[in-house]
Amino acid sequence: RSPGKLGGLNSDNTASNDAKNLRVKLVLLGDSGVGKSCIVLRFVRGQFDPTSKVTIGASFLSQTIALLDSTTVKFEIWDTAGQERYAALAPLYYRGAAVAVIVYDITSQESFHKAQYWVKELQKHGGPDMIMALVGNKADLHERREVSAESGMDYAERNGMFFIETSAKTADNINQLFEEIGKLLPRPAPALS
Ligand code: GDP
Repeated sequence: RSPGKLGGLNSDNTASNDAKNLRVKLVLLGDSGVGKSCIVLRFVRGQFDPTSKVTIGASFLSQTIALLDSTTVKFEIWDTAGQERYAALAPLYYRGAAVAVIVYDITSQESFHKAQYWVKELQKHGGPDMIMALVGNKADLHERREVSAESGMDYAERNGMFFIETSAKTADNINQLFEEIGKLLPRPAPALS
């Protein structure tokens, strides 16, 4: 994997064809096992398959959505593919990303702590305009919940992040996550003609 392939977007973090069609790099971060790949598969392919561990590491998956203001957003979604262990790779990974989605598992306090580590990393090394979302996944497992929704919400609020709880299994809030991010993206000024 060459570092050059990780970039490719404009320096303003939003590679846009025009004001109505946005294209953004989105990176997923979070502890291994919190459901990052499952969230991507649910969003891009509309399925939940806990048995197939797809590796999209060498590249990214993309999905385009249309918002109510008739803007379309093409998300280029990068998954860590297990490389979250190698912190040194991280800056390369999130370079040029307009959006970072930091995922934890609501049944794991440890994964919530790990999410906070990633938030601090991004605050140090990410672009100043990066949009950050905090996602509490596996919301269907409420009987095993270790992290309250309030804890997630409070932390996100203190750090200027968007917050949502999702379930890749039941599809709860998965599309909403990406739609809300789409609404937060800056709209480039229309080109002068
Ligand atoms: P990653 O390492 O963060 O990419 O995690 P995966 O996407 O591989 O998911 C790890 C495991 O968590 C999978 O085997 C799924 O069975 C499970 N999982 C992922 N999302 C959910 C969810 O929303 N609900 C439940 N119950 N299990 C999930």
